[in-house]
Amino acid sequence: MSRILIWFRNDLRIHDQAILIHGIEHNPEIIIPIYCFDERQFSTTSFGFPKTGKFRAKFLIEAVTDLRKSLQKIGNNLIIRKGIPENIIPQIAIENKIDLVCFSAEATAEEIKVEKKLSKKLSQVNIRIKSIWQSTLYHPEELPYSIADIPDLFTNFRKKVEAKSKIYYCLKTPQKLPSIPTIEIGNIPSLQDLGLEDYQLSSKSVLTFQGGETKAIDRLNHYFWEKDCLKNYKQTRNGMLGSDYSSKLSPWLALGCISPRYIYQQVKKYEEERVKNDSTYWLIFELLWRDFFRFTAVKYGNQIFYKSGLQNISLPWQENWSIFELWCEGQTGYPLIDANMRELKSTGFMSNRGRQNVASFLTKNLGINWQMGAQWFESMLIDYDVCSNWGNWNYTAGIGNDARGFRYFNIPKQSKDYDYQGNYLRHWLPEIAQIKGEKIHQPWTLSPHEQKQFNIQLGVNYPLPMVDFFPSIKNNQKVYLNYTS
Ligand SMILES: Cc1cc2nc3c(=O)[nH]c(=O)nc-3n(C[C@H](O)[C@H](O)[C@H](O)COP(=O)(O)OP(=O)(O)OC[C@H]3O[C@@H](n4cnc5c(N)ncnc54)[C@H](O)[C@@H]3O)c2cc1C
Repeated sequence: MSRILIWFRNDLRIHDQAILIHGIEHNPEIIIPIYCFDERQFSTTSFGFPKTGKFRAKFLIEAVTDLRKSLQKIGNNLIIRKGIPENIIPQIAIENKIDLVCFSAEATAEEIKVEKKLSKKLSQVNIRIKSIWQSTLYHPEELPYSIADIPDLFTNFRKKVEAKSKIYYCLKTPQKLPSIPTIEIGNIPSLQDLGLEDYQLSSKSVLTFQGGETKAIDRLNHYFWEKDCLKNYKQTRNGMLGSDYSSKLSPWLALGCISPRYIYQQVKKYEEERVKNDSTYWLIFELLWRDFFRFTAVKYGNQIFYKSGLQNISLPWQENWSIFELWCEGQTGYPLIDANMRELKSTGFMSNRGRQNVASFLTKNLGINWQMGAQWFESMLIDYDVCSNWGNWNYTAGIGNDARGFRYFNIPKQSKDYDYQGNYLRHWLPEIAQIKGEKIHQPWTLSPHEQKQFNIQLGVNYPLPMVDFFPSIKNNQKVYLNYTS
């Protein structure tokens, strides 16, 4: 009879859980599930931000706590350690005479390096490993091309995948696990143990994200079944204010608390039982973007992190910290940017519409090194996903494989288009909340009389725009064209 160690990574669930199923198939005498808080994930990024900020760290702690409870309910437990997984796991494996270690394969360099080091150490002591890919909707084996041949254009990727590939069914959730041997279980660390400060969530936050599989399923049930929001998703998904304009499943997807295939099956069920329309399709379409960025990251390896990006375009990006900090703090003088950046800093979340606008502003108006923005997001986002984040930043900065030249977002126009009444701006920017009508999108157009009327002193209690919109676009476009043509 075999003895199995299951190493959980960004796959913190027991439903549709391939590594657990693989372990059980060996009919093992014992199973040891383990999660290791990798201390390197709690160091700083190259620009000096905490690699895992407080929002994501708290969400992770909650997710691990929930996983432990789920494993306890089916007769096992979750061992917790803090340190370097490739050192800790071989030690536990040797002490417990393990013969197989199962884990999920990851897509990017840091994680693959850890896998390689671990595999080497285990093979030296004749312990087998099984690494299983399970983070995407489509399994790589189901793709109509090898990873190296994945199209660089999303549309080309999507069309062929939709026509030729199928999505596997979710695996069954195990109801009973073999026991765990006597072993030190280990405490789940607190935020302070991870070197981060505890915090109270901002009262302006529109949703309390709580980590773990249980809350992930609750959120899906709320969005699909209780509130029936899925049927209008395509019309509402570009919103910015409120809990239900989009699914908000991203933090749970990022840590694997919910499987994309489970979401897919629930969409199919909804289509059978309620309605099938553009909106139900569109949620799957968005999950395909997630797959696309993940496979692209595998195809291009470390290039997604390079300043010159996937297209290998060397632009003279600026690293001006005083400018960058105004962006981080939401003090640019552009209300749409400021509201979104303040939401990110206070809650760890930002809508997709917001992310596209703030990334465009940083790169196309301010000309700041996009890697600084990507690392700030890495630190702050509760749903940080290495492939989706760096892939989207490549794309928005104009150096991604699917980028179409110098494209920018017209921020004041976007503000009016997606927040016509200005309610999102008023929610996050109390200084300008009194402005009536559309001038809230462009406070710099207020006359002195209006400023007095709304109790605003531009440049004193709300900043004047830090750059002129179109001249700054023109400057950066000129630079881009000089370096690319
Ligand atoms: C600069 C930038 C950085 C981003 N960083 C991240 C990140 O670190 N983590 C992350 O999960 N998403 C990231 N996104 C993508 C997107 O903004 C979020 O996935 C989305 O806003 C999450 O909200 P939701 O779950 O309500 O999305 P929904 O609209 O409900 O979409 C459902 C799911 O589809 C996936 N999805 C949707 N849009 C995208 C997209 N453009 N790229 C990849 N997957 C997508 C997500 O998994 C999402 O949860 C980024 C986008 C930009 C422009």
